[in-house]
Amino acid sequence: MRQHNPQNDLAQRILAGDRRALARAITLVESTRADHREQATALLGALAGHDRQALRIGLSGTPGVGKSTFIEALGTMLCGRGLTVAVLAVDPSSARTGGSILGDKTRMERLSRLPGAFIRPSPSQTHLGGVARRTREAVALCEAAGFDVVLIETVGVGQSETVVAELSDVFVLLLAPAGGDELQGVKRGIMEAADLIVVNKADGDLKATATRTCADYAGALRLLRRRPQDAPGFPKALTASALEERGLDTVWGEIDALGNWRRAHGQWQARRAAQARHWFHEEVRQALLARLETPQARARMAELAERVARGEAAAGAAARAMLASLQSGPQSDGESLDGGADSA
Ligand code: GDP
Repeated sequence: MRQHNPQNDLAQRILAGDRRALARAITLVESTRADHREQATALLGALAGHDRQALRIGLSGTPGVGKSTFIEALGTMLCGRGLTVAVLAVDPSSARTGGSILGDKTRMERLSRLPGAFIRPSPSQTHLGGVARRTREAVALCEAAGFDVVLIETVGVGQSETVVAELSDVFVLLLAPAGGDELQGVKRGIMEAADLIVVNKADGDLKATATRTCADYAGALRLLRRRPQDAPGFPKALTASALEERGLDTVWGEIDALGNWRRAHGQWQARRAAQARHWFHEEVRQALLARLETPQARARMAELAERVARGEAAAGAAARAMLASLQSGPQSDGESLDGGADSA
């Protein structure tokens, strides 16, 4: 028998596909309040054990490349085929400034009206670590609610693509048609994470450039080391026009084919397991960093930094003292610094 869990009702409603319950649950996982965190943990616990798996598609690209146009067109197409689609956003700008590139509600208006679609703008505030966790938990909630596809969108700046790549079953990089020199602008790590590069805006005057750009990226992808999770022919570069809604069926076909290949070859679960491991490490890291943010820890940190600056203690010894004080709690003075100023 299951233990009584006050979040069971909400969990049942989410499993039944209740959108309002889902929205409420996402608000809960976004909250940083301690009691909300506890409820969120209980809720995720109550939801554990269902065997639903959405196809999680990560989509990254710089502002203006056409992400929302692309997601709206792809999402609408998928809804038209009877699939349900949830769209979530990881927005690093909201983490930094409180403003949002991806969160504005007027985006994807057409898609948001479809009964098969669920769009969640990104929340404001919190650091990237917090954004990553809330997105990961929101993905889990959407999956529990039975969505066929969960699209996780991010702006291609900073570390947010890494977060999205680590959350997705298939990772798509959206690029604009450009001259060859701009190829250098894509960070190697992101190229390596991409399963599919889609050169968008392959229409009108931009079509020829898009085709050339696509060939350049196809060449660059061929130079990358093959990964075990790569089906033959992947990673791949394609062109599309989100605006004219062309090439989207091909893009979807490739995503679906790669997902199926990974399922059939044990790579799907292997990838999810590796991601779970990554997120576990990340949680531990974040929890440790949070310990540095208490008033006592900040004060101790400032005090030790001063002593290091005055040459009274070596950086290495002061760091050990700091870590010791974190372990033993704020009351303790922690490790003695005496005689420690020999090496930095
Ligand atoms: P985002 O910032 O990446 O979400 O980009 P948007 O979807 O808001 O699109 C930015 C601009 O590019 C808008 O003016 C779109 O109309 C335009 N755009 C998006 N997709 C295409 C496309 O396939 N072809 C062309 N020509 N323009 C596009």
